[in-house]
Amino acid sequence: MKILFVASEAAPFIKTGGLGDVIGALPRALCERGHEILVVLPKYSAIDAHAHGLRDTGRRVEVQFPNLLAGAEIFQYAPEARLRYLFLQSPWFDRRELYGEGGKEYRDNHKRFALLCAGALEAAKQQNFIPDAVHAHDWQAALTPLILKRGWAGRPAPFQARSVFTIHNLAYQGVFPREAMSELALPSDLFHADALEFYGSLNFMKAGLVFGDKLTTVSPTYAREIVDSKETGAGLEGLLTHRRNDLVGIMNGVDYKRWSPDTDEALPQRYSAQDLSGKAADKAALQRELGLAEEPRTLLCAAIGRLVHQKGYDLLVEALPAFVERKVQFVLLGMGDAALEEQFKALAAKYPRNISVQLRFDDKLAHRIEGGADMFLMPSRFEPCGLNQLYSLRYGTLPLVHAVGGLADSITEGKQGWGFRFDEQTAEALRQALDRALELWALPDAWRAAMLRAMARDHSWARSAEQYEALYRG
Ligand code: ADP
Repeated sequence: MKILFVASEAAPFIKTGGLGDVIGALPRALCERGHEILVVLPKYSAIDAHAHGLRDTGRRVEVQFPNLLAGAEIFQYAPEARLRYLFLQSPWFDRRELYGEGGKEYRDNHKRFALLCAGALEAAKQQNFIPDAVHAHDWQAALTPLILKRGWAGRPAPFQARSVFTIHNLAYQGVFPREAMSELALPSDLFHADALEFYGSLNFMKAGLVFGDKLTTVSPTYAREIVDSKETGAGLEGLLTHRRNDLVGIMNGVDYKRWSPDTDEALPQRYSAQDLSGKAADKAALQRELGLAEEPRTLLCAAIGRLVHQKGYDLLVEALPAFVERKVQFVLLGMGDAALEEQFKALAAKYPRNISVQLRFDDKLAHRIEGGADMFLMPSRFEPCGLNQLYSLRYGTLPLVHAVGGLADSITEGKQGWGFRFDEQTAEALRQALDRALELWALPDAWRAAMLRAMARDHSWARSAEQYEALYRG
């Protein structure tokens, strides 16, 4: 089959979170299964065209807006005969960040991502790539299924194809003032609660949810939660209930080429389930690097992620003094909410031999942490899939998670388990889970056996790719 992907980020070109990891890996997995894939992305100025081998095709697409024809130059990267990435370059994407700065979304995001959606379909047609299915991701790409059904700027869609729309995180919906409807010349008959309107505003995510032929999200439990829970459904649970027969949860996979301790070049020493000695060396190196006491028998816990409400790091702030009391070490790598950053910094200043706080985005350090830590903490309030717990499994770094969404689907606690989970979202429940973890930590052989079970878990993309394939086929 021919499949067109439309998305706003992809590793290794540009990534702010799990979406980037997925778009970096799923097309390749599909290609390995014999399909032909075209991925269309914005060419943000942060993408280093030279470093990634992007080539200017000398061609461009034009997208009609009211009183304005927006053009985009097309860059290409084609790592395989059956896998191509197209990048749309426009001044609208030449910004410091992808979606906003200083906690504020860019005000013209509706135009920027409409350009991506309409431009992606035009670019595919121009390249003679008429897909069997179009796979659009999150609110930034959510107008694509609408354009396929209803056309753009008064003209029909450049071609017909089935559409699959994937929700990577329902908490980000792309909501714009009502005027955005006319600035995009969207059909005004769509401005009602059963289509694009969301409490008087325009909601991009709804375009995907209403017009996508099939809907997916990134884990089976999250697929249930967004229908059943008001908090996780974020105001769209009614629409999702209406479409529940077309909604499936497909767990994200892991790109084991990037995330495997036996091949990971970011690690001071590589290791595998057969020989774990390198992990002890990586732990010592990490403790040294972070200024933590270099003690092999001290449990080293880690957290990596965006410092936002979703991730539940406020719970960690509350529980960390109990970690220190129990002589446990902790490293945080993340950035975001300024108040949380301050709270973590204060804890690191108070307990410098136990707590290290790294407030930046650093992919290499993320790898060294996965390699060197003993345990990985994810107290998320909700978690569509979560990738770091899956990476942690492969590195033998036992996850301790709040049992929601993809965390509930991937982590099992108990005699034959490979991690720790708590149900109530409280610091007390987190502390109790830590105490259970410490009981296992006191039994080195039992801990090691759990590590080996973790490392044997298989979250490769092949199985998930097969499930997507069935949806593309219809
Ligand atoms: P989300 O998509 O909600 O941010 P995921 O767990 O699905 O969460 O994916 C987050 C990805 O981003 C992981 O690959 C994680 O390692 C990476 N990441 C997040 N914050 C940082 C950071 N500060 N430095 C390096 N990598 C980070």
